[in-house]
Amino acid sequence: MKRLLLALLLPPLAVARPEPHAWKLPITAREHANWVFTVPRDVPPPPDRYEILRTGNRPCHIPVERTPWRINVGDQRYWPILDRAMLTWNVGVQPLGMTYLFLPADQDHPPDLTLKWFDPQLPRDKAAATWWSTGLDVARVLGISLDGAFRVPEGNMVQILSHELGHVLGLGESQQPGDLMYYKTPTQRLSPGDVRLSQRDFEALRWLYAQEYYTPIRGPRD
Ligand SMILES: [Zn+2]
Repeated sequence: MKRLLLALLLPPLAVARPEPHAWKLPITAREHANWVFTVPRDVPPPPDRYEILRTGNRPCHIPVERTPWRINVGDQRYWPILDRAMLTWNVGVQPLGMTYLFLPADQDHPPDLTLKWFDPQLPRDKAAATWWSTGLDVARVLGISLDGAFRVPEGNMVQILSHELGHVLGLGESQQPGDLMYYKTPTQRLSPGDVRLSQRDFEALRWLYAQEYYTPIRGPRD
């Protein structure tokens, strides 16, 4: 928390790094012929009342080449919940050509993140939390804690874990009911199939992962 506050108070160091697509002039016609243009994708801005995790004046996302993130369920009893929560994102982003943001850890793929289902650090009024250590050059996910004894239907647990995985991707809270990233836990009973991205969740993610000037989100050991 202290480091996050520090990051907000310090003058923006981002000016020390060149903006993408800022070319030095003058340049000769010959050089011009060798240019390879990167045409920015035409992506609408993130939806209203929808936060994006930012540090060092840049939005944060997982470097695409580092996906999928491998998740260790931590306790096999909760595997069906993790399975559905990962599916929510893996299916939801298919139109972006980004399949498999999350997959289970296994013998050949060590975990980027391990879930904690009984964490004494989790505040009593919270069903789940994602822990961060945020600096100017990196946003590090330290872990996800969930209340394994929280007496809610399985679909609601899927919703809660999917929401936390959204934070891991760099999405913040939404103020709009119906979004997966809505800051309040839904009070109605959900079945696992009810949990899906809204159009706004999709657009926020599309904008975020089109940003080439960003702060990388990394795992605890990366
Ligand atoms: Zn949240």
